[in-house]
Amino acid sequence: MATLDATDYNALTNDEFRREVRSFFESRYPEALRYLPRRVRIREIRDWWNTLYEKGWIAPNWPREWGGMGLDAGKMVIFLEEMERHGVARAADQGITQVGPILMRYGTGAQKEYYLPRTRSGEIIWCQGYSEPNAGSDLASLQTSAVLDGDHFIVNGQKIWTTLAHDSTHIYLLVRTDREAKKQKGISFLLVDLTTPGITIRPIRNIAGHEEFCHVFFDNVRVSKDALVGKLNEGWTVAKALLGFERLNIGSPRRPQYALMRLEMLGRAKGLFDDAGFVDRFTQIKLDLEDLASLYARYVEQVKRGEPLGHDVSSLKIWAMEAWQRLTDLLVETGAEDGVIEGAQEIAGVEIDFLTPFYYARPATIYGGSSEIQRNILSKYVLDLPSQ
Ligand SMILES: Cc1cc2nc3c(=O)[nH]c(=O)nc-3n(C[C@H](O)[C@H](O)[C@H](O)COP(=O)(O)OP(=O)(O)OC[C@H]3O[C@@H](n4cnc5c(N)ncnc54)[C@H](O)[C@@H]3O)c2cc1C
Repeated sequence: MATLDATDYNALTNDEFRREVRSFFESRYPEALRYLPRRVRIREIRDWWNTLYEKGWIAPNWPREWGGMGLDAGKMVIFLEEMERHGVARAADQGITQVGPILMRYGTGAQKEYYLPRTRSGEIIWCQGYSEPNAGSDLASLQTSAVLDGDHFIVNGQKIWTTLAHDSTHIYLLVRTDREAKKQKGISFLLVDLTTPGITIRPIRNIAGHEEFCHVFFDNVRVSKDALVGKLNEGWTVAKALLGFERLNIGSPRRPQYALMRLEMLGRAKGLFDDAGFVDRFTQIKLDLEDLASLYARYVEQVKRGEPLGHDVSSLKIWAMEAWQRLTDLLVETGAEDGVIEGAQEIAGVEIDFLTPFYYARPATIYGGSSEIQRNILSKYVLDLPSQ
């Protein structure tokens, strides 16, 4: 049973709060799961989930009335920074970061009462069913349909790239409920139990050999009308309601930590800091990451002041993800013939995995809005350039 933590963390100074979070992560987070260069599976992280739940810290962003920590924006940033500093893995947290806040804003009383406590306890694990084979960047073209039949929707179609669907019990879905309406206007938001008959989940193996995302097929799946969140045909508004932290967090300078640490250790162990060519490239990437940290800090301050993030935050995503890719390129090149061997190895006394971070940095310029789309946003809304 979770403790409902009575502490008002917002009343602590930032330093006091940081110390408390840091000490908890350092003393309780499992060493074996620090700085994992891949997405962690639910079976590996279940004990840590329970530890956070029992402490009352599993939902730092939720208000206290729903069992969250009720952190304000500034404290939330500190919490995330300390997670990343200590290399705490991101669990299947779509329920905490997405579904919970959506239900608090748009859910019915019954939906909140049923789903929120179970999402917090981890009895329900959510995945996000937005993308389809022909609807990624242009998400509003999605075709998975939900047709009303009495008290049920009948859902047919296919989702793709659904992260950790095979670890999840439920999916939140964008479906087309009006084919006549213009794109965004005919979309609705549904909550679906993945054990419902007619659903097939097929994992997709990525180039690193991990099965992290899946196809999810819907074949005449009967979903109760009560599963609708918000109004019929207004799912686009529901889905778009969550920006802010997601956009900020994705640009965190802590993400490349593992690769940078290993590159530096390897460079020292192999005496590469006597090589002007290596020093030049290492310094360049280190400066890129310093630039990223400054840019990130600027947006963090904006969030702490309670100001909404503007379209210019797209530059943070571009810089963070592209710098991460440049860093992992250098890591693989530095490994030379060892750099193309899969898995962890010991080189000059340093344990290192070259390819996993390299592979993980590849899709980073695609998910969460691709670099091209972010550049389109900057060009249209920030630079006011004419569209092509
Ligand atoms: C690791 C990972 C996890 C993911 N997890 C999930 C998940 O859990 N749930 C979910 O619903 N989805 C998920 N996705 C899907 C992700 O949201 C999509 O991959 C993304 O929206 C891009 O869509 P797409 O893959 O169809 O590429 P496309 O949209 O087909 O784009 C292909 C290329 O064309 C470019 N392009 C497209 N449109 C334009 C344009 N207008 N101008 C310039 N260039 C353009 C893109 O930048 C890209 O380089 C995940 C993806 C990845 C890689």
